[in-house]
Amino acid sequence: MEVLLADEYGFCFGVERAVEMVEESLEEGDTVRTLGPLIHNDQEMSRLATHGVATISEPVQIQRGETAVIRAHGVTPQVEAELREKASKVVDATCPFVTKVQKLASRAAAQDRHVVVVGNPEHPEMIGVFGYAPEHAFVINDASEVANLPKLKSPLVVSQTTIKLKNFLEVAEAVKGKTDDEVQVVNTICSATRDRQDAARALSTVVDAFYIIGGRHSSNSRKLLAVCKEECEKSFLIETEDEINAEDLRGVEKVGVTAGASTPNWLIDKIVNRLKAIGTEN
Ligand code: SF4
Repeated sequence: MEVLLADEYGFCFGVERAVEMVEESLEEGDTVRTLGPLIHNDQEMSRLATHGVATISEPVQIQRGETAVIRAHGVTPQVEAELREKASKVVDATCPFVTKVQKLASRAAAQDRHVVVVGNPEHPEMIGVFGYAPEHAFVINDASEVANLPKLKSPLVVSQTTIKLKNFLEVAEAVKGKTDDEVQVVNTICSATRDRQDAARALSTVVDAFYIIGGRHSSNSRKLLAVCKEECEKSFLIETEDEINAEDLRGVEKVGVTAGASTPNWLIDKIVNRLKAIGTEN
């Protein structure tokens, strides 16, 4: 049985960078506290916990002598200031793609322009971005909400990094009807999620079974499962190698593997090795 990995899988650039920054901090002997879970993967969080990494939910929980980590989603300037005041050290692991959105919003607000951000207002990334332009920004889910906005002044339209392009373009178009000024549209969507889906879709056409490694509650992993199932009925979402049932692989010649953006490489390696072992037994 041949085990084939999708062309793009696992940690995205921002998550990998955040985990590396935590590792570096641990190597320096820091007591690391992340504001919110660093990534949505129980196995990786457990591994980090064995190195003393703990999660806090509020800046007030940080103690002097501890290192506070801002995760890839970023935070508001106020939260960052609170962390800097309380912690001995702050590691800012905000993904550079998110930092770009924060900077664009902040610059437009400083010019007294409105900012329309397309995204989920409750998502941590959006809460952080809004904090950079609280008097000027509107975070909206889709074009149907544009009608509720006031008249806009030289608006800037940007997006949450993980939304769909179609949704973003519809909002950008609708915003034109809300202003007499020029609309500045900057597409800030990150391609990581789409790249993983495209690679999984391509591989799903040539394999007999497909394993998607990721958290059962992770929306990007569940979406990968749906994409793979379109072409490969024997597609399974698993969190660990113990969930592989050798019976499912009987008669399978080619098995595909991909992983959600929060799945660490060490976990992917374990699963690939288990599949290879089953392949030689079957
Ligand atoms: S999905 Fe994109 S924007 Fe989000 S952390 Fe990963 S690389 Fe950064």
